[in-house]
Amino acid sequence: MENYIVSARKYRPDTFESVVAQKSLTTTLKNAIHSGKLAHAYLFCGPRGVGKTTCARIFAKTINCEHLTADGEPCNECESCRSFNQQRSYSIYELDAASNNSVEDIRSLNEQVRIPPQVGRYKVYIIDEVHMLSQAAFNAFLKTLEEPPAHAIFILATTEKHKIIPTILSRCQIYDFSRIEVADIVSHLQNIATKEGINTEYEALRIIAQKSDGCMRDALSLFDQMVSFTQGDLTYIKVIESLNVLDYEYYFRFTDYLLAGQTSQALLLFNDVLNKGFEGSIFVEGAASHFRDLLVNSDPVTLPLFEGSDELRNRYATQAQKCTAKFLFRAIKLCSDCSMNYRASRNKRLLVELTIIQLSQLVAGDDSDVSGGRSPKLKPLFNKSLSNDSVQTVKTAPASNNPVITSQVQQQLVVAPEQNAPANTTKPTVPHGRPQSLRPTMPTGTSPSLGHMFGGVRSMLNTKQNTTTTLETDKAQIENGATNTQPVAEHKVNVTNENLVQAWTSFALQLPDNERALSDRMKIMTPHLLDDDRFEISVDNQLAAEMFEREMPRILRGIATFLPGNALKASIKVNEIVVERHVYDRKKQYEILREKNHLVEKLRQRLNLELS
Ligand SMILES: [Zn+2]
Repeated sequence: MENYIVSARKYRPDTFESVVAQKSLTTTLKNAIHSGKLAHAYLFCGPRGVGKTTCARIFAKTINCEHLTADGEPCNECESCRSFNQQRSYSIYELDAASNNSVEDIRSLNEQVRIPPQVGRYKVYIIDEVHMLSQAAFNAFLKTLEEPPAHAIFILATTEKHKIIPTILSRCQIYDFSRIEVADIVSHLQNIATKEGINTEYEALRIIAQKSDGCMRDALSLFDQMVSFTQGDLTYIKVIESLNVLDYEYYFRFTDYLLAGQTSQALLLFNDVLNKGFEGSIFVEGAASHFRDLLVNSDPVTLPLFEGSDELRNRYATQAQKCTAKFLFRAIKLCSDCSMNYRASRNKRLLVELTIIQLSQLVAGDDSDVSGGRSPKLKPLFNKSLSNDSVQTVKTAPASNNPVITSQVQQQLVVAPEQNAPANTTKPTVPHGRPQSLRPTMPTGTSPSLGHMFGGVRSMLNTKQNTTTTLETDKAQIENGATNTQPVAEHKVNVTNENLVQAWTSFALQLPDNERALSDRMKIMTPHLLDDDRFEISVDNQLAAEMFEREMPRILRGIATFLPGNALKASIKVNEIVVERHVYDRKKQYEILREKNHLVEKLRQRLNLELS
């Protein structure tokens, strides 16, 4: 530990064999040397830190080596190899085009190129960052490249192949270096750690490898930093602390909360993360990769895509079993949407919180039957419960064959939650009081904690959530008469959320082009099965609700062809989120004010004011 040399230098590969993770490239190069079929110009492309320059140097050394080993590696013993290793070789030149990009630099290079080597057969010119050459320099270089002396070999390296002009590209043998995989970086670091007597944990190295994003040079320099920070004891905890990485424990807990429908806990956890100094975006991105890891761990075929220790893999697999694929898909989608909107959002915290609420809704709206009952069935947080009599209707009206709408489509404005008070465990978010529209941002004193939470969120958003203003178009009982004429008892397909969604989507997909509006809307919606033959859809606004009201009989008939033997019924719920300042006119605003403080009215009267 005392005289610790920076790993990047000390462990720079000096044979093809020791190059990390570019096996096919190094094999091709070795074969070229072995068969004596050398090109005059090579172009090594690829991201930074993946071994382009290293390979160029090894290649240069190898072609001049006097005693190649049996497997085509440089001997590191002959005069040429030694002079190269001691950086005193006259046969190998390196030019950093980033700092020597003028036409003069290239001209002096051109002059040097003509002089044959004193030792060895070839003079090798390694031009790094070749895309940085000026246009004039490129042109000057092109002449040499067109007619190179027999002893000259050029190795050009670049991270930006697209910036190389075609005339140069066409004269080079091109090698594309790929970014180094996490597992390869980890095993390389592990080797170094073993040699240096450094204590490491696999997960710690994995974090370093992930942070360096396929760049070995970054990985090594991070590794060096961590070694000095942690006094040679690279544990997972110490590394995530120093690298400011969010612990995966958070995400395991977070997912558990979501699965259990504990929205408030999930929000508190996010708060905790913010308090630790992490950006909301980091949390969301981390959550997205957590869901992604769960997804790849839920299918044996995609298991290799998971980069982590076996122990961690088991934990992921265990949690993955509790999630349906649908939940994970949607969760990833929600998180990525949130990341996309994050930068533009003015209230970033709220954006993330809303995403968390939506995430917890996913489970609520998810179907447990798909997973074979693995995911706990939860009551929706924001959903209105259904009145019992409608359930009754369903049960007592089995599969009628007539495509008739039996009940009138009626719409009622549900003013306050208690009027519709369900015998149901769903907590109304704002349980008491006057019609909600008049008390938008007031604290909900007696509400349960969850109510608080959302009361708070809602007031931040300055919008009203659906639960309260729900124009519950509980016209529900639009009944379907299955169009098929077979007796219902035969071919009865048990409706599950999964086949309901399939039927819904299939119907949407088969709609003709002139019904794009309906089709597109249907595609982004997910019907949610309430019981055996009743489902609910949520729409964003009244207009959409009306459209679905009109179309529902037809949709139901269509769906029934995919789910024969069922007389499905649907209810439409409007999730109207209305920004308040649009809702209230002056008069309403005044009324709210008056309601809050009756003296306002007295004042108005005394001053003889009128509302304009
Ligand atoms: Zn040698």
